[in-house]
Amino acid sequence: MNFKRIYLSSPTMTGAEQEYIKEAFETNWVAPLGQNVNEFEKELAYYVGVPFAVALTSGTAAMHMAIKALGINRGDIVFCSSLTFAASCNPIIYEGGIPVFIDSEEDSWNMDPAALRKAFAKYPNVKAVIVVNLYGTPAKLDEIAAICREHGVPLIEDAAESLGATYRGRQTGTFGKFGVFSFNGNKIITTSGGGMLVSEDRAMIEKVRFWATQAREKELHYEHKEIGYNYRMSNIVAGIGRGQLKSLNDFIQRKKQIYNTYKDVFKDIDYVSMNPVPEDCKPNYWLSCITIKESCKVKPYDIIKALEKENIESRPVWKPMHLQPVYRECDFISMVDDPLGISGRIFSRGLCLPSDIKMTKEDMDRIIYIVKEMLEVG
Ligand SMILES: *Cc1c(COP(=O)(O)O)cnc(C)c1O
Repeated sequence: MNFKRIYLSSPTMTGAEQEYIKEAFETNWVAPLGQNVNEFEKELAYYVGVPFAVALTSGTAAMHMAIKALGINRGDIVFCSSLTFAASCNPIIYEGGIPVFIDSEEDSWNMDPAALRKAFAKYPNVKAVIVVNLYGTPAKLDEIAAICREHGVPLIEDAAESLGATYRGRQTGTFGKFGVFSFNGNKIITTSGGGMLVSEDRAMIEKVRFWATQAREKELHYEHKEIGYNYRMSNIVAGIGRGQLKSLNDFIQRKKQIYNTYKDVFKDIDYVSMNPVPEDCKPNYWLSCITIKESCKVKPYDIIKALEKENIESRPVWKPMHLQPVYRECDFISMVDDPLGISGRIFSRGLCLPSDIKMTKEDMDRIIYIVKEMLEVG
């Protein structure tokens, strides 16, 4: 028995990427910037339906630039979904801000609008809100955007995991002042590493482009009036992105099949539920997750171990930020009277199953067999 490793979500190259990279080499436009960067920005902006975009070295860089563009300064409070990856909120700290973490709702695992309202009541001077669309499932974006509008506070949408997902027919990443995308190696499309910041505000995107290019003033010599960053995407990386973007819709279809396959086989097991898909949205199904009832003897960790023994990668759900040692001093706003919050309970009961689009039917059968066998014992 020597099965090849099954991954949670690994890059899938289609060949189209090569064409753009080849062109970049042939025209010697490897770096800096170049046509692929310009076109990738346009193509992604067109896909999501936003007029302006700037391609950057990572999703984290895009989040950093969004926070800087909103003028977050030392001591400013920023609300952020607690159940997320640290890159959603670390850039708040880069700019000296103070995150306040907002709990999840059961419906979508994303920011609970009721908890957001509660947070506004406690911190009326908040400067920005960061909402995350976890695992490719949109948050209640209309409601969250409306609450932010009511308070006159800008919204940043962390759509790093949700490229191509829609909420009430509209693409994620387009509901706030800024949308953040990531093309890291594990995301639904990848450039090996990269990110994009999108907005309807041309001036803001131009400003970010300037900061991300070392804040070089338009002079022949190197003139600097502001502190800049080396955050621009390379022309080679953008070429990979252009090729990948062509397959995004196919990838989403495949991810959806994977989700539905799991959902179908687990529907008869009382102990297990899939990550929820609320009405009104079409996720991109980036990762398929399950939660296991507290009453089951088998814990997520046991299943992760059992899969790992068979050379199959799975992972716990993101550990909420309010439970992270580095953020222990930050406030956490929840609708439940439990320090874990809904998000902490999802973390303790949940795991992400392999969701790699290159999995075969046999691969999935093996995974399902192992998980079911574990659970039936429980
Ligand atoms: C991946 C990810 C990011 C960061 O993107 P990078 O390109 O890896 O810097 C931000 N937020 C969330 C929710 C992510 O999953």
